[in-house]
Amino acid sequence: MQRKQISKRLATVGSFVPQGARLVDIGSDHAYLPIALVQKGQIKAAIAGEVVAGPYQSACQNVAEHSLQDKIEVRLANGLAAFEVLDQMDTLVVAGMGGRLISEILAADEEKLSTLKRLILQPNNHEDRLRSWLHEHGWVLIAEEILEEAGKVYEIMVAEKGSQTLSSQEVCFGPYLLKEKSAIFQQKWQKEQEKLSQALARIPATHELERQVLTQKIQEIKEVLDVSK
Ligand code: SAM
Repeated sequence: MQRKQISKRLATVGSFVPQGARLVDIGSDHAYLPIALVQKGQIKAAIAGEVVAGPYQSACQNVAEHSLQDKIEVRLANGLAAFEVLDQMDTLVVAGMGGRLISEILAADEEKLSTLKRLILQPNNHEDRLRSWLHEHGWVLIAEEILEEAGKVYEIMVAEKGSQTLSSQEVCFGPYLLKEKSAIFQQKWQKEQEKLSQALARIPATHELERQVLTQKIQEIKEVLDVSK
């Protein structure tokens, strides 16, 4: 059977999965990530959790087509209900969902969550909310990555248990991404700044509070991008 080709986004998520991991992939859709990682010999075993029947069926089918049923178990389940403590999983991936939904999934069973060593998360939006949630619930960011694929920008965050101090700027922009300020990071925030400036121009002067909030956000971005005016 041919090696599973996966997107740059999923491959980057996979690059943070430790060698020999027992992986839970929540919202696994086609089970592409666990299939690719088993084929590479990177993980020992995986549970692919999926809450919707259609994607669950296609995950089952793909795992069977690759004859990987002994290594990857596909489970129809909502969030963390996909695994039990007895499964002895150590690494969790939740990718391709909104940051708010990812934090709700994590918050649903914090005791079970605490049995895991590493979380690898790829929110499609609200990255700041997810960073806040991790920070407030005993998880430390150990790495972050930003990448572009097919015109979209994705952020990936990797967390392990512990505590750290994060400034509000770090929560918003990501502590590692902020330090690195890569070209993609700068493009992302430049675009965001332009979007907010256009929105500000449309807000009437009488909506003072709304204008203040946007002006403040634009200023924060300018500071990070080091734009003096
Ligand atoms: N993780 C894959 C990726 O990054 O390419 C698939 C992303 S897809 C956009 C999101 C998947 O998560 C969908 O198949 C959806 O049904 C599933 N999903 C959403 N909420 C879920 C939940 N609470 N538990 C399990 N799966 C969920």
